[in-house]
Amino acid sequence: MQRHNFSAGPCVLPQEVLQKASQALLDFDNGLSLIEISHRSKAFVDVMEQARALALELLGLEGKGYKALFLQGGASTQFLMVAQNLLEKKAAYLNTGTWSDKAIKEARIFDDITEVASSKSANFNYIPKGFDIPEDHDYFHLTSNNTIFGTQIKNFPKSPIPLVCDMSSDIFSRTLDFSQFDLIYAGAQKNMGPAGTTLVVVKEDILGKVSRKIPSMLDYKVHIDKSSMFNTPPVFAVYTSMLTLQWLKDLGGIAAIEKENEKKSRLMYSEIDLNPLFKGFAAKEDRSDMNATFTLTNDDLKDTFDTMWKEAGINGLNGHRSVGGYRASMYNALSLDSVKVLVEVMSELESKA
Ligand code: PMP
Repeated sequence: MQRHNFSAGPCVLPQEVLQKASQALLDFDNGLSLIEISHRSKAFVDVMEQARALALELLGLEGKGYKALFLQGGASTQFLMVAQNLLEKKAAYLNTGTWSDKAIKEARIFDDITEVASSKSANFNYIPKGFDIPEDHDYFHLTSNNTIFGTQIKNFPKSPIPLVCDMSSDIFSRTLDFSQFDLIYAGAQKNMGPAGTTLVVVKEDILGKVSRKIPSMLDYKVHIDKSSMFNTPPVFAVYTSMLTLQWLKDLGGIAAIEKENEKKSRLMYSEIDLNPLFKGFAAKEDRSDMNATFTLTNDDLKDTFDTMWKEAGINGLNGHRSVGGYRASMYNALSLDSVKVLVEVMSELESKA
């Protein structure tokens, strides 16, 4: 049965990437597996360099003072690394969901945090707007896409201080002026590859300004100096991410995938809005193109709907426990056809009810 993978992460990856990655496990370099050769071998060093270069190229940040790193510890480690490397006195955060909340909690270990605005009291169903960014703070931190609640920042505020963004769940999905950000981080396991590596893109000139001592593994400068090879990198995750970035480049880059992502989300949200059996969770203007969150208007239909989508080969549609209902995650590698299958199941439910 053909599967349609709407999982929130880890999630769908391009079939051709999975095939190439599988092949490399068996034979990557003259009969040796990718995961049994030295990470210092030319074959792997080339992979790392290509992955770093592709990331900057796709984001349009080549030659603009940025470095790309493939680190470990997930985006969750970036919650603390950002603060440890950049927070001298005070930092400002926008609280738009569970992941921002966790980033704030980690940063509080280091120093004072100003939450400029929060949508927590509305269970994070919208993106706060119209707040001031304090000029005397060290940086301003945002989460571009809130994976759990299905909201996404559409217009980024102009920041008088360095702008740091957690793009774990929408990186490489839409065109943006990425040079407005001074530091971007993203766990690989949505639009890039398997869990196990985290992309960090950092403008070098924001580093080296804090007085505290930073342990080597948590110091961006150390990783930059060692070309993202300070210690053994997660070779399989980096290789697979490189393949996905190459796949994206061959498709025409972010501008090309953005068009596909818009088609998918338009179809998904029009069904949610037109079908009386469903209700969207997020405020319309802030709806995420990556994660559509919705509930049934009549809970009695839950068992029928759940059986129907599972029978259609759909995977990963259950919502996160803090929202309930359903979440259709439509990352780059999910096809428009998969969204059509889901929308057909939703309209079939309407005709049955
Ligand atoms: N930020 C966002 C927006 C996320 O969606 C996630 C994970 N789903 C994280 C951070 C945490 O990432 P990790 O599990 O890689 O630490």
